[in-house]
Amino acid sequence: MDLLKARILKDGQAINEHVLKVDSFLNHQVDPVLINAVGQEFARYFADSLQGEKIDKVVTIESSGIAPAMFTAAALGVPLLILKKQASRILNSDVYQAQVHSFTKDLDYQLTVAKKYLQAGQKVLMIDDFLANGQAALGVLDICKQADVKLLGIGIVIEKSFQEGRALLEAEAMNVYSLARISKLSAETITFAD
Ligand code: 5GP
Repeated sequence: MDLLKARILKDGQAINEHVLKVDSFLNHQVDPVLINAVGQEFARYFADSLQGEKIDKVVTIESSGIAPAMFTAAALGVPLLILKKQASRILNSDVYQAQVHSFTKDLDYQLTVAKKYLQAGQKVLMIDDFLANGQAALGVLDICKQADVKLLGIGIVIEKSFQEGRALLEAEAMNVYSLARISKLSAETITFAD
């Protein structure tokens, strides 16, 4: 998506060779015009590639996935379900949980969602801001399996293609669509894969 790539080049800041900051338009301050276009593009792609298969809801993880996921859900006309991050396992039979290792914080959290919002047989789409090592997406897949819900596809705003996330998700036969794929990151340059 050219508009997004241009904005990454203009305003993205590589903290080091592994982490990109996009605080000014995606996950601290949000540019609603750009992220609306992101949501429209995810809706267009998945309507096309899933050949009109019904999507019951969009899921994301708090908090940085919420903006692109919300615009995608609005474009598709379906609810958005926000999976919560909890510090430790709570013993509660009303929730599904999966342990996820956070790439940015280097600690584990429990991805948590109320069972009542994921009904067996439903079909969902996951949207997130970044794909790095794929642990967040694998956590969502784990929860979908627990709930007997089908994860139809994963939409990623920025994929860091030099990390292992995409390979891990493709090994699970996931349909992964990333709007910008970065092949190399350094303080001086951001290189796109395509
Ligand atoms: P993964 O689970 O794929 O290793 O990491 C994905 C999650 O980590 C995303 O939800 C995102 O919030 C965060 N993340 C991973 N890499 C970056 C990055 O380079 N910049 C920012 N801002 N967040 C990242």
